[in-house]
Amino acid sequence: MATIELQGLVKAYNKTTAVHGIDLTINDGEFVVFVGPSGCGKSTTLRMIAGLEDITAGTLSIAGAVVNDMAPKQRNIAMVFQNYAIYPHMSVGKNIGFGLYTSKLSATEKGQRILETAKILGLEDLLDRRPSELSGGQRQRVAIGRAMVRDPVAFLFDEPLSNLDAQLRAQMRIEIKRLHQRLGTTIVYVTHDQIEAMTMADKIVVMRDGRILQVGTPTDLYENP
Ligand code: ADP
Ligand code: ADP
Repeated sequence: MATIELQGLVKAYNKTTAVHGIDLTINDGEFVVFVGPSGCGKSTTLRMIAGLEDITAGTLSIAGAVVNDMAPKQRNIAMVFQNYAIYPHMSVGKNIGFGLYTSKLSATEKGQRILETAKILGLEDLLDRRPSELSGGQRQRVAIGRAMVRDPVAFLFDEPLSNLDAQLRAQMRIEIKRLHQRLGTTIVYVTHDQIEAMTMADKIVVMRDGRILQVGTPTDLYENP
C-alpha cells in the first residue's frame, strides 16, 4: 500500500488546461472519491496518477518516490475502466489471468493467484464460464479480478458503474465498498454521482473547473454542502 501525493499537479492540453495545479494527499488504505460535473478534470487527474497522461507541471509521488516519468506498469497501480472490457472469447479464469500476462510467476503460481482472486470475488465456481454466461454484476467482478490479480498498491476506478442500471449500480456500490473493507487497498474513484460519493468514500474531493473546491468526509460535506 502506498500514500499518493499530488503537489501542484497541472495538465494542459493545446487549447484547454484540464487541471490547474491541485494538491492532495491520499493516505494508505483510504477510499477517495473525486466528484464533480462532466469536464471538471476528474478523469484527467486519475489518468495522470495511472501514468496514462503526461504531467504538465507539479509532482506526483507514490510511497515517497516521485513517479512523474515512471511507466504505468512500474507504478503497480490498477486502473478499472468504465466499459470493463473483458474478453468474450476467454473464460472467466483466462480473463482474470490476463492481468498476469507480463508477470514472471510460474504457471502454478499464476493458477493460485487466479483462484485466490476468484474466491475473494465469489467467482471460484465460474472459472470455466464464458462472460456471456454471467450476470452483469459477475462480469464486473471479472474485470475487477483482472486488476486485483496483480496485487496492486492502489485501484483507480473511472466511472465504473455509469453504464449499469440502477439496481446493479446499488449492488456494485456495496460490493466495491465491501471489497475495500476486506483488502484495505487504497482506492481512488471518479464519479459524477453524488450518491456514490456519499455512500462509498472515506474522503470526497469535489472538483470544479480543474480545481479542488472542497475536501472532506461525507459527513463534513453533508453538513456543509
Ligand atoms: P471529467 O473526467 O471531469 O469529465 P476530463 O478530465 O475528462 O473531465 O476533462 C477535463 C477537461 O479537459 C475537459 O474540458 C476536456 O474536454 C478536456 N480534455 C480531456 N482530455 C483531453 C484531450 N485529450 N485533449 C484535449 N482536451 C482534453
Ligand atoms: P470520460 O467519460 O472519462 O470523461 P471523455 O469522453 O471525456 O471520457 O474522453 C474520452 C477520451 O477522449 C479520453 O481519452 C479523453 O482524454 C479524450 N478527450 C476528452 N475530451 C477531449 C477533447 N476536448 N479533445 C480531445 N480529446 C478529448
